[in-house]
Amino acid sequence: MSAPERRAGGRRAAHRAPERALLAEARALQPRTLELRRALHRHPEIGLMLPATQAAVLAALEDLPLEVGTGRECSSVVAVLRGARPGPSVLVRADMDALPMHEDTGLPFSSEVDGAMHSCGHDLHTAMLASTARLLAGRRDRLAGTVVLMFQPGEESSHGARMMIDEGLLSAEGPGGTPESAMALHVTSRLAAGTLQTRPDSIMASSDDLHVTVTGRGGHASAPHDALDPVPAAAAMVGALQTMVTRRVSAFDPAVLTVAHISAGTTTNVIPETAMLEGTVRTLSEETRARVLDEVTRVCTGVADAYGCTCEVEIEAGYPVTVNDPDVADRVADAGRSVLGSRFVEPMPDPIMGSEDFSYVLGRVPGALAFLGACPADVDPAEAPPNHSNRVVFDEDAMVAGVALYSGYVLDALRRA
Ligand SMILES: [Zn+2]
Ligand SMILES: [Zn+2]
Repeated sequence: MSAPERRAGGRRAAHRAPERALLAEARALQPRTLELRRALHRHPEIGLMLPATQAAVLAALEDLPLEVGTGRECSSVVAVLRGARPGPSVLVRADMDALPMHEDTGLPFSSEVDGAMHSCGHDLHTAMLASTARLLAGRRDRLAGTVVLMFQPGEESSHGARMMIDEGLLSAEGPGGTPESAMALHVTSRLAAGTLQTRPDSIMASSDDLHVTVTGRGGHASAPHDALDPVPAAAAMVGALQTMVTRRVSAFDPAVLTVAHISAGTTTNVIPETAMLEGTVRTLSEETRARVLDEVTRVCTGVADAYGCTCEVEIEAGYPVTVNDPDVADRVADAGRSVLGSRFVEPMPDPIMGSEDFSYVLGRVPGALAFLGACPADVDPAEAPPNHSNRVVFDEDAMVAGVALYSGYVLDALRRA
């Protein structure tokens, strides 16, 4: 029994019966959820093409009354569940891709693929959404509206959600139809299992990468005046970029700029021709994102010029800011209170400066991303290896809460016809 179920009893349970029943239904599906999650965990796939993962999802949905489509340029799955009566439509998402890394968890169902690991919990998301499809399909006769189940590849930096939108995701229910709201859960090992956190407005940052090449003129290290050393210019850029962030960006709409990689030269007595900086820019609004990226080019070019060098700034666009619709975020929290109990829903004080490509969906459909705690019971969440760690372990029991939450949110959204 999961923690939410254990604590869900008592006097509040009576008038919450319909929603609390979801937890029991999700619990009954847990053997299937576990089986799929572990199968995916053993065989992680990376990027936009996940053929084995896609096949596993299609097999898991095979006997359900769904209209299922697959991607052309990526191995996405979009499954549409039509209720018995017309009504609004709602989209729920799971991402399916893993990361290029070695697993060191020691789990009996550890990755069997060298150099790939489900360390962000997307295997849990996929299994949760497949069981959500089954739970909701069992209630199809009572549903008024349409559920679009989005299984996406390529969340980890391949823009999979954008590709799915380009391939017609948002009109999956039929011509002219667009989901009225969208919701996604993301598990985290840094929250107690079964705990839900979300927030209105920006919840995750934009993410763009910088590649700066400073060019001077090489020479002998003993005679810098005969050369044009790009190293001090690059060093000055690191400081100037930080100063730019503090002087040009409002303290109330923060940005993070990290120069994470510097390289120049080959030995002690040669002034190199070029120096290179690489890093990332994170912001919480599209206005600040645009401003910081403009300033990066201006500052680097200006500093290079001051040192007599030239520079080339390449900005590799990553994901937009993930912005929750306040009303939908409230509704997700409400669903959490109904399904799990109030004590399992916490406010999320600060956004996370990581990024999410569900941002592409939220740019077009009012919706919300929420975090679901999946820290094992015997581990302190503050000490747990985080998502993306080679040692991260998730409490699989959190998937019961996840299936119930997805289902609870969908049922609530369809009742708003
Ligand atoms: Zn991740
Ligand atoms: Zn993730």
